[in-house]
Amino acid sequence: MVVKTRFAPSPTGYLHVGGARTALFSWLYARHCGGQFVLRIEDTDRERSTQPAIDAILESMQWLKLNWDEGPYYQTKRFDRYQEVIDKLLAEGKAYKCYCSKERLEQMREEQMKNGLKPRYDGHCRDSHEEHSPDEPYVVRFKNPTEGKVAFDDMVKGHIEFDNAELDDFIIQRSDGTPTYNFCVVVDDADMGITHVIRGDDHVNNTPRQINLYHALGAPVPVFCHVAMILGDDGTKLSKRHGAVSVMQYREDGYLPEALVNYLVRLGWSHGDQEIFSVPEMIEYFTPEAINKSASSFNTKKLDWLNAHYMKTLPVEEVASELSWHLQRIGVDEKNGPDPKLVVKCYAERTHTLKEMAQKAACYYQDITEYDPAGVKKWMKEGSVDVLREALTVLQSAASWEAQPLDEALSDLAKRLEIGMGKVGQPLRIALTGSAMSPGIGDTLVLCGRERALERIAKAIEHFAK
Ligand code: GLU
Repeated sequence: MVVKTRFAPSPTGYLHVGGARTALFSWLYARHCGGQFVLRIEDTDRERSTQPAIDAILESMQWLKLNWDEGPYYQTKRFDRYQEVIDKLLAEGKAYKCYCSKERLEQMREEQMKNGLKPRYDGHCRDSHEEHSPDEPYVVRFKNPTEGKVAFDDMVKGHIEFDNAELDDFIIQRSDGTPTYNFCVVVDDADMGITHVIRGDDHVNNTPRQINLYHALGAPVPVFCHVAMILGDDGTKLSKRHGAVSVMQYREDGYLPEALVNYLVRLGWSHGDQEIFSVPEMIEYFTPEAINKSASSFNTKKLDWLNAHYMKTLPVEEVASELSWHLQRIGVDEKNGPDPKLVVKCYAERTHTLKEMAQKAACYYQDITEYDPAGVKKWMKEGSVDVLREALTVLQSAASWEAQPLDEALSDLAKRLEIGMGKVGQPLRIALTGSAMSPGIGDTLVLCGRERALERIAKAIEHFAK
Protein backbone atom coordinates (compact mmCIF):
# COMPACT_ATOMS: atom_id res chain seq x y z
CA MET A 1 0.00 0.00 0.00
CA VAL A 2 1.31 3.44 -0.88
CA VAL A 3 0.87 5.74 2.08
CA LYS A 4 -0.88 8.97 1.17
CA THR A 5 -1.35 11.74 3.69
CA ARG A 6 -2.74 15.23 3.36
CA PHE A 7 -2.86 18.61 4.96
CA ALA A 8 -6.27 20.20 4.66
CA PRO A 9 -6.33 23.71 6.12
CA SER A 10 -9.37 25.97 6.11
CA PRO A 11 -8.13 29.30 4.76
CA THR A 12 -9.74 31.53 7.34
CA GLY A 13 -6.49 33.12 8.54
CA TYR A 14 -2.71 32.84 8.43
CA LEU A 15 -1.08 29.43 8.93
CA HIS A 16 -0.43 29.17 12.66
CA VAL A 17 2.21 27.00 14.27
CA GLY A 18 -0.31 24.35 15.32
CA GLY A 19 -1.42 23.91 11.72
CA ALA A 20 2.18 23.93 10.57
CA ARG A 21 3.03 21.14 12.98
CA THR A 22 0.10 19.06 11.69
CA ALA A 23 1.31 19.70 8.15
CA LEU A 24 4.85 18.73 9.15
CA PHE A 25 3.76 15.47 10.78
CA SER A 26 1.66 14.53 7.73
CA TRP A 27 4.50 15.44 5.39
CA LEU A 28 7.07 13.54 7.43
CA TYR A 29 4.99 10.42 7.57
CA ALA A 30 4.47 10.44 3.81
CA ARG A 31 8.19 10.95 3.25
CA HIS A 32 9.10 8.34 5.88
CA CYS A 33 7.01 5.76 4.04
CA GLY A 34 8.09 6.82 0.57
CA GLY A 35 4.47 7.84 0.05
CA GLN A 36 2.67 10.92 -1.19
CA PHE A 37 1.56 14.15 0.39
CA VAL A 38 -1.48 16.11 -0.75
CA LEU A 39 -2.36 19.74 -0.05
CA ARG A 40 -6.05 20.55 -0.02
CA ILE A 41 -7.57 23.92 0.71
CA GLU A 42 -10.89 23.47 2.51
CA ASP A 43 -12.57 26.65 1.36
CA THR A 44 -16.24 25.63 1.36
CA ASP A 45 -16.99 28.22 4.00
CA ARG A 46 -17.02 31.05 1.52
CA GLU A 47 -17.74 33.75 4.05
CA ARG A 48 -14.69 33.01 6.15
CA SER A 49 -12.25 31.85 3.46
CA THR A 50 -10.08 34.53 1.90
CA GLN A 51 -7.50 34.71 -0.86
CA PRO A 52 -4.88 36.36 1.40
CA ALA A 53 -5.26 33.42 3.80
CA ILE A 54 -4.78 30.95 0.93
CA ASP A 55 -1.68 32.87 -0.18
CA ALA A 56 -0.31 32.91 3.36
CA ILE A 57 -0.79 29.14 3.69
CA LEU A 58 0.99 28.43 0.41
CA GLU A 59 3.79 30.85 1.21
CA SER A 60 4.26 29.33 4.67
CA MET A 61 4.35 25.79 3.33
CA GLN A 62 6.91 26.78 0.71
CA TRP A 63 9.04 28.62 3.22
CA LEU A 64 9.02 25.58 5.52
CA LYS A 65 9.94 23.49 2.46
CA LEU A 66 6.96 21.16 2.98
CA ASN A 67 6.50 20.28 -0.66
CA TRP A 68 3.35 18.53 -1.84
CA ASP A 69 3.01 15.89 -4.53
CA GLU A 70 -0.58 16.72 -5.42
CA GLY A 71 -2.67 19.84 -5.19
CA PRO A 72 -3.34 22.33 -3.99
CA TYR A 73 -6.87 21.11 -4.47
CA TYR A 74 -9.69 23.51 -3.71
CA GLN A 75 -12.98 22.27 -2.38
CA THR A 76 -14.83 25.11 -4.08
CA LYS A 77 -13.75 23.62 -7.42
CA ARG A 78 -15.28 20.27 -6.53
CA PHE A 79 -18.90 21.26 -5.96
CA ASP A 80 -20.11 19.21 -8.94
CA ARG A 81 -18.52 16.13 -7.47
CA TYR A 82 -20.12 16.76 -4.06
CA GLN A 83 -23.52 17.20 -5.70
CA GLU A 84 -23.07 13.94 -7.55
CA VAL A 85 -22.36 12.08 -4.30
CA ILE A 86 -25.27 13.76 -2.49
CA ASP A 87 -27.62 12.77 -5.31
CA LYS A 88 -26.32 9.22 -5.13
CA LEU A 89 -26.81 8.99 -1.36
CA LEU A 90 -30.34 10.39 -1.74
CA ALA A 91 -31.16 7.91 -4.51
CA GLU A 92 -29.84 5.03 -2.41
CA GLY A 93 -31.87 6.12 0.60
CA LYS A 94 -28.69 6.80 2.62
CA ALA A 95 -29.51 10.46 2.98
CA TYR A 96 -32.74 12.41 3.07
CA LYS A 97 -34.13 15.88 2.66
CA CYS A 98 -35.07 17.58 5.88
CA TYR A 99 -37.66 20.35 5.78
CA CYS A 100 -37.74 21.11 9.48
CA SER A 101 -38.05 24.81 10.11
CA LYS A 102 -35.61 26.79 12.20
CA GLU A 103 -38.36 27.30 14.74
CA ARG A 104 -39.06 23.59 15.07
CA LEU A 105 -35.37 22.80 15.48
CA GLU A 106 -34.96 25.52 18.09
CA GLN A 107 -37.95 24.36 20.06
CA MET A 108 -36.70 20.77 19.95
CA ARG A 109 -33.29 21.92 21.13
CA GLU A 110 -34.69 23.91 24.01
CA GLU A 111 -36.79 20.99 25.18
CA GLN A 112 -33.87 18.59 25.04
CA MET A 113 -31.73 20.99 27.03
CA LYS A 114 -34.51 21.48 29.55
CA ASN A 115 -34.67 17.72 30.05
CA GLY A 116 -30.91 17.51 30.48
CA LEU A 117 -30.42 15.81 27.10
CA LYS A 118 -27.67 16.46 24.57
CA PRO A 119 -29.21 18.48 21.73
CA ARG A 120 -29.51 16.37 18.62
CA TYR A 121 -31.76 16.11 15.60
CA ASP A 122 -34.70 13.83 16.38
CA GLY A 123 -34.99 12.28 12.92
CA HIS A 124 -38.37 13.86 12.20
CA CYS A 125 -37.91 13.86 8.41
CA ARG A 126 -35.96 10.61 8.23
CA ASP A 127 -38.95 8.43 7.37
CA SER A 128 -41.48 11.11 6.59
CA HIS A 129 -43.54 10.83 3.43
CA GLU A 130 -44.95 14.34 3.57
CA GLU A 131 -45.32 16.08 0.25
CA HIS A 132 -43.29 19.27 -0.24
CA SER A 133 -43.45 21.88 -2.93
CA PRO A 134 -40.28 22.16 -5.04
CA ASP A 135 -39.48 25.65 -3.76
CA GLU A 136 -39.64 24.71 -0.09
CA PRO A 137 -36.18 25.00 1.44
CA TYR A 138 -34.49 21.89 2.81
CA VAL A 139 -31.18 20.56 4.00
CA VAL A 140 -29.82 17.10 3.24
CA ARG A 141 -29.05 14.89 6.20
CA PHE A 142 -27.02 11.71 6.35
CA LYS A 143 -28.87 8.67 7.69
CA ASN A 144 -26.57 7.72 10.50
CA PRO A 145 -26.95 4.13 11.73
CA THR A 146 -29.15 4.14 14.83
CA GLU A 147 -27.63 1.11 16.49
CA GLY A 148 -24.27 -0.41 17.24
CA LYS A 149 -20.93 1.21 17.75
CA VAL A 150 -18.48 2.97 15.57
CA ALA A 151 -14.88 2.40 16.58
CA PHE A 152 -11.39 3.16 15.35
CA ASP A 153 -7.81 2.66 16.45
CA ASP A 154 -6.16 6.02 16.53
CA MET A 155 -2.40 5.95 15.95
CA VAL A 156 -1.89 8.34 18.86
CA LYS A 157 -4.88 7.92 21.12
CA GLY A 158 -5.47 4.22 20.75
CA HIS A 159 -8.90 2.58 20.60
CA ILE A 160 -11.83 5.00 20.53
CA GLU A 161 -15.48 4.10 20.19
CA PHE A 162 -18.80 5.88 20.09
CA ASP A 163 -22.37 4.59 20.27
CA ASN A 164 -24.25 5.35 17.11
CA ALA A 165 -27.20 6.24 19.30
CA GLU A 166 -25.22 9.28 20.41
CA LEU A 167 -24.79 10.59 16.90
CA ASP A 168 -27.56 12.30 15.01
CA ASP A 169 -28.30 12.62 11.32
CA PHE A 170 -25.91 15.40 10.51
CA ILE A 171 -26.37 17.85 7.71
CA ILE A 172 -24.34 17.17 4.58
CA GLN A 173 -25.83 19.93 2.45
CA ARG A 174 -27.08 23.27 3.72
CA SER A 175 -30.28 24.90 2.51
CA ASP A 176 -28.23 27.17 0.24
CA GLY A 177 -26.91 24.07 -1.52
CA THR A 178 -23.38 24.18 -0.09
CA PRO A 179 -21.96 20.95 1.27
CA THR A 180 -20.62 20.77 4.84
CA TYR A 181 -17.16 20.01 6.18
CA ASN A 182 -17.86 16.52 7.54
CA PHE A 183 -19.19 15.49 4.17
CA CYS A 184 -16.61 17.10 1.87
CA VAL A 185 -13.68 15.87 3.89
CA VAL A 186 -14.81 12.27 3.46
CA VAL A 187 -15.57 12.57 -0.24
CA ASP A 188 -12.18 14.20 -0.78
CA ASP A 189 -10.14 11.80 1.32
CA ALA A 190 -11.87 8.87 -0.38
CA ASP A 191 -11.47 10.29 -3.91
CA MET A 192 -7.87 11.25 -3.28
CA GLY A 193 -6.96 7.85 -1.87
CA ILE A 194 -5.82 9.19 1.49
CA THR A 195 -4.63 6.30 3.65
CA HIS A 196 -3.70 8.22 6.83
CA VAL A 197 -5.50 11.23 8.22
CA ILE A 198 -3.22 13.15 10.56
CA ARG A 199 -4.95 16.16 12.12
CA GLY A 200 -5.69 18.08 15.29
CA ASP A 201 -7.59 16.28 18.03
CA ASP A 202 -10.34 18.88 17.86
CA HIS A 203 -11.62 16.58 15.09
CA VAL A 204 -11.89 13.41 17.18
CA ASN A 205 -15.63 13.93 17.65
CA ASN A 206 -16.15 14.29 13.91
CA THR A 207 -14.43 11.02 13.18
CA PRO A 208 -17.29 8.57 13.99
CA ARG A 209 -19.65 10.50 11.71
CA GLN A 210 -17.05 10.48 8.99
CA ILE A 211 -16.43 6.74 9.38
CA ASN A 212 -20.15 6.03 8.95
CA LEU A 213 -20.07 8.10 5.82
CA TYR A 214 -17.12 6.12 4.42
CA HIS A 215 -19.14 2.97 4.96
CA ALA A 216 -22.15 4.48 3.19
CA LEU A 217 -19.94 5.40 0.24
CA GLY A 218 -18.35 1.96 0.18
CA ALA A 219 -14.93 3.57 0.53
CA PRO A 220 -12.05 2.21 2.62
CA VAL A 221 -11.68 3.97 5.98
CA PRO A 222 -8.28 5.63 6.43
CA VAL A 223 -6.16 5.28 9.54
CA PHE A 224 -6.66 8.23 11.90
CA CYS A 225 -4.03 10.00 13.90
CA HIS A 226 -5.22 12.81 16.14
CA VAL A 227 -2.56 15.11 17.51
CA ALA A 228 -3.01 16.93 20.81
CA MET A 229 -2.97 20.69 20.75
CA ILE A 230 -0.18 23.10 21.54
CA LEU A 231 -0.32 25.12 24.73
CA GLY A 232 1.37 28.39 25.56
CA ASP A 233 4.01 28.50 28.31
CA ASP A 234 1.24 29.20 30.86
CA GLY A 235 -0.68 26.02 30.05
CA THR A 236 -3.52 27.65 28.16
CA LYS A 237 -4.25 27.08 24.48
CA LEU A 238 -1.56 28.75 22.37
CA SER A 239 -2.83 32.05 21.03
CA LYS A 240 -1.66 35.48 20.02
CA ARG A 241 -1.41 36.43 23.67
CA HIS A 242 1.66 34.20 23.90
CA GLY A 243 3.48 36.01 21.08
CA ALA A 244 3.82 35.13 17.43
CA VAL A 245 1.62 32.28 16.29
CA SER A 246 1.68 32.72 12.53
CA VAL A 247 4.40 30.96 10.58
CA MET A 248 5.15 34.04 8.48
CA GLN A 249 5.50 36.10 11.64
CA TYR A 250 8.35 33.79 12.63
CA ARG A 251 9.96 34.46 9.29
CA GLU A 252 9.55 38.19 9.79
CA ASP A 253 11.04 37.89 13.26
CA GLY A 254 14.18 36.39 11.75
CA TYR A 255 13.92 32.65 12.33
CA LEU A 256 15.22 30.12 9.84
CA PRO A 257 12.73 27.59 8.47
CA GLU A 258 15.10 24.80 9.54
CA ALA A 259 14.93 26.05 13.13
CA LEU A 260 11.14 26.30 13.15
CA VAL A 261 10.73 22.86 11.57
CA ASN A 262 13.15 21.31 14.05
CA TYR A 263 11.33 23.07 16.84
CA LEU A 264 7.91 21.93 15.64
CA VAL A 265 8.89 18.31 15.18
CA ARG A 266 9.90 18.14 18.83
CA LEU A 267 6.64 19.67 19.91
CA GLY A 268 4.82 16.50 20.82
CA TRP A 269 7.17 14.01 19.20
CA SER A 270 10.48 12.63 20.38
CA HIS A 271 13.22 10.22 19.43
CA GLY A 272 15.23 9.38 22.53
CA ASP A 273 16.57 12.61 23.93
CA GLN A 274 17.78 13.97 20.61
CA GLU A 275 16.95 17.65 20.11
CA ILE A 276 18.60 18.54 16.83
CA PHE A 277 17.32 16.81 13.73
CA SER A 278 18.28 17.38 10.14
CA VAL A 279 15.37 16.89 7.77
CA PRO A 280 16.68 13.50 6.53
CA GLU A 281 16.95 12.38 10.15
CA MET A 282 13.40 13.48 10.93
CA ILE A 283 12.18 11.59 7.89
CA GLU A 284 14.07 8.49 8.92
CA TYR A 285 12.91 8.46 12.53
CA PHE A 286 9.40 9.88 12.37
CA THR A 287 6.51 7.60 13.19
CA PRO A 288 3.10 8.74 14.42
CA GLU A 289 3.16 6.11 17.17
CA ALA A 290 5.85 8.15 18.92
CA ILE A 291 3.66 11.26 19.07
CA ASN A 292 2.77 12.24 22.66
CA LYS A 293 -0.76 11.69 23.85
CA SER A 294 -0.78 14.87 25.90
CA ALA A 295 -0.62 18.48 24.80
CA SER A 296 2.78 20.10 24.45
CA SER A 297 3.84 23.57 25.48
CA PHE A 298 5.46 26.17 23.34
CA ASN A 299 8.86 27.31 24.54
CA THR A 300 10.31 30.29 22.75
CA LYS A 301 13.71 29.94 24.41
CA LYS A 302 14.23 26.57 22.82
CA LEU A 303 13.27 27.94 19.43
CA ASP A 304 15.81 30.75 19.91
CA TRP A 305 18.45 28.21 20.81
CA LEU A 306 17.72 26.16 17.68
CA ASN A 307 17.78 29.28 15.55
CA ALA A 308 21.21 30.23 16.86
CA HIS A 309 22.38 26.69 16.15
CA TYR A 310 21.17 26.71 12.56
CA MET A 311 22.48 30.20 11.86
CA LYS A 312 25.94 28.90 12.71
CA THR A 313 25.80 25.44 11.19
CA LEU A 314 23.70 25.53 8.02
CA PRO A 315 25.55 26.02 4.74
CA VAL A 316 26.31 29.73 4.44
CA GLU A 317 24.44 30.01 1.12
CA GLU A 318 21.20 28.89 2.75
CA VAL A 319 21.42 31.36 5.60
CA ALA A 320 22.46 34.07 3.15
CA SER A 321 19.45 33.52 0.95
CA GLU A 322 17.18 34.02 3.96
CA LEU A 323 19.22 37.08 4.95
CA SER A 324 18.62 38.51 1.48
CA TRP A 325 14.89 38.35 2.12
CA HIS A 326 15.36 40.35 5.31
CA LEU A 327 17.65 42.90 3.67
CA GLN A 328 15.09 43.47 0.98
CA ARG A 329 12.36 43.82 3.56
CA ILE A 330 14.14 46.69 5.26
CA GLY A 331 14.79 48.37 1.95
CA VAL A 332 18.45 47.44 1.55
CA ASP A 333 19.70 46.96 -1.99
CA GLU A 334 22.19 44.10 -1.94
CA LYS A 335 23.99 45.44 -4.98
CA ASN A 336 25.31 48.33 -2.89
CA GLY A 337 27.41 46.27 -0.53
CA PRO A 338 29.08 42.99 0.32
CA ASP A 339 27.95 39.52 -0.67
CA PRO A 340 25.40 38.47 1.99
CA LYS A 341 27.41 35.26 2.45
CA LEU A 342 30.20 37.36 3.92
CA VAL A 343 27.76 39.05 6.28
CA VAL A 344 26.60 35.62 7.47
CA LYS A 345 30.18 34.47 8.03
CA CYS A 346 30.96 37.53 10.13
CA TYR A 347 27.66 37.83 12.00
CA ALA A 348 26.31 34.30 12.57
CA GLU A 349 27.94 34.13 15.99
CA ARG A 350 27.04 37.68 16.96
CA THR A 351 23.34 37.87 16.25
CA HIS A 352 20.35 35.80 17.34
CA THR A 353 18.03 36.26 14.39
CA LEU A 354 18.30 37.15 10.73
CA LYS A 355 16.21 40.22 11.35
CA GLU A 356 18.86 41.45 13.75
CA MET A 357 21.61 40.45 11.31
CA ALA A 358 19.99 42.44 8.52
CA GLN A 359 19.62 45.48 10.75
CA LYS A 360 23.25 45.29 11.85
CA ALA A 361 24.47 44.77 8.30
CA ALA A 362 22.43 47.58 6.75
CA CYS A 363 25.36 49.96 7.39
CA TYR A 364 27.45 48.13 4.79
CA TYR A 365 24.88 48.86 2.10
CA GLN A 366 23.50 52.26 3.05
CA ASP A 367 24.93 55.51 4.37
CA ILE A 368 25.13 55.69 8.12
CA THR A 369 22.91 58.42 9.44
CA GLU A 370 24.22 58.78 12.97
CA TYR A 371 26.95 57.71 15.35
CA ASP A 372 25.72 55.79 18.38
CA PRO A 373 25.95 58.28 21.27
CA ALA A 374 26.91 55.65 23.88
CA GLY A 375 29.73 54.32 21.72
CA VAL A 376 30.92 57.84 20.96
CA LYS A 377 30.91 58.79 24.63
CA LYS A 378 32.90 55.73 25.55
CA TRP A 379 35.43 55.61 22.76
CA MET A 380 35.82 58.97 21.04
CA LYS A 381 38.27 60.49 23.48
CA GLU A 382 40.97 63.07 23.18
CA GLY A 383 43.41 61.77 20.69
CA SER A 384 40.94 59.42 18.98
CA VAL A 385 40.81 61.65 15.93
CA ASP A 386 44.59 61.52 15.68
CA VAL A 387 44.44 57.73 15.89
CA LEU A 388 41.86 57.73 13.09
CA ARG A 389 44.22 59.91 11.01
CA GLU A 390 47.07 57.49 11.53
CA ALA A 391 44.82 54.54 10.75
CA LEU A 392 43.64 56.23 7.57
CA THR A 393 47.22 56.63 6.39
CA VAL A 394 48.00 53.00 7.15
CA LEU A 395 44.87 51.76 5.41
CA GLN A 396 45.33 53.98 2.36
CA SER A 397 48.57 52.22 1.66
CA ALA A 398 47.33 48.69 2.44
CA ALA A 399 48.53 46.34 -0.27
CA SER A 400 45.57 43.99 -0.01
CA TRP A 401 42.07 44.55 1.33
CA GLU A 402 41.68 41.31 3.24
CA ALA A 403 40.83 40.80 6.87
CA GLN A 404 44.03 39.26 8.13
CA PRO A 405 46.63 41.67 6.66
CA LEU A 406 44.38 44.59 7.63
CA ASP A 407 44.16 43.33 11.21
CA GLU A 408 47.93 42.97 11.27
CA ALA A 409 48.56 46.43 9.90
CA LEU A 410 46.33 48.00 12.54
CA SER A 411 47.82 45.95 15.32
CA ASP A 412 51.28 47.18 14.20
CA LEU A 413 49.92 50.70 14.36
CA ALA A 414 48.67 50.20 17.94
CA LYS A 415 52.11 48.95 18.92
CA ARG A 416 53.83 51.88 17.22
CA LEU A 417 51.52 54.36 19.00
CA GLU A 418 51.94 52.40 22.22
CA ILE A 419 48.20 52.13 22.84
CA GLY A 420 45.85 49.18 23.27
CA MET A 421 44.15 47.77 20.19
CA GLY A 422 40.77 48.89 21.57
CA LYS A 423 41.78 52.51 21.15
CA VAL A 424 42.38 51.87 17.47
CA GLY A 425 39.60 49.40 16.76
CA GLN A 426 36.69 51.04 18.56
CA PRO A 427 36.96 54.54 17.05
CA LEU A 428 37.38 52.82 13.69
CA ARG A 429 34.24 50.74 14.21
CA ILE A 430 32.31 53.88 15.06
CA ALA A 431 33.64 55.55 11.93
CA LEU A 432 32.85 52.53 9.75
CA THR A 433 29.51 51.33 11.10
CA GLY A 434 28.19 54.08 13.35
CA SER A 435 28.50 51.83 16.40
CA ALA A 436 31.29 50.29 18.44
CA MET A 437 29.82 46.82 18.02
CA SER A 438 30.93 45.02 14.91
CA PRO A 439 32.91 41.92 13.97
CA GLY A 440 36.73 41.91 13.95
CA ILE A 441 38.10 45.15 12.58
CA GLY A 442 39.61 43.42 9.55
CA ASP A 443 36.24 41.82 8.73
CA THR A 444 34.48 45.13 9.27
CA LEU A 445 36.82 46.83 6.82
CA VAL A 446 36.24 44.10 4.25
CA LEU A 447 32.48 44.29 4.73
CA CYS A 448 32.62 48.04 4.07
CA GLY A 449 34.89 47.65 1.06
CA ARG A 450 37.99 49.74 0.50
CA GLU A 451 36.49 52.85 -1.00
CA ARG A 452 33.59 53.14 1.41
CA ALA A 453 35.83 52.44 4.41
CA LEU A 454 38.38 55.12 3.55
CA GLU A 455 35.61 57.60 2.84
CA ARG A 456 33.89 56.90 6.15
CA ILE A 457 37.08 57.25 8.16
CA ALA A 458 37.81 60.59 6.50
CA LYS A 459 34.26 61.70 7.19
CA ALA A 460 34.48 60.69 10.86
CA ILE A 461 37.78 62.58 11.24
CA GLU A 462 36.08 65.67 9.91
CA HIS A 463 33.00 65.14 12.10
CA PHE A 464 34.79 64.46 15.39
CA ALA A 465 37.55 67.03 14.83
CA LYS A 466 34.91 69.71 15.36
N1 GLU B 1 -10.10 21.90 7.42
C1 GLU B 1 -9.98 21.36 8.74
C2 GLU B 1 -9.34 22.35 9.67
O1 GLU B 1 -8.66 23.25 9.21
C3 GLU B 1 -9.14 20.13 8.80
C4 GLU B 1 -9.88 18.95 8.46
C5 GLU B 1 -9.14 17.65 8.54
O2 GLU B 1 -7.92 17.66 8.63
O3 GLU B 1 -9.81 16.66 8.45
O4 GLU B 1 -9.50 22.22 10.85
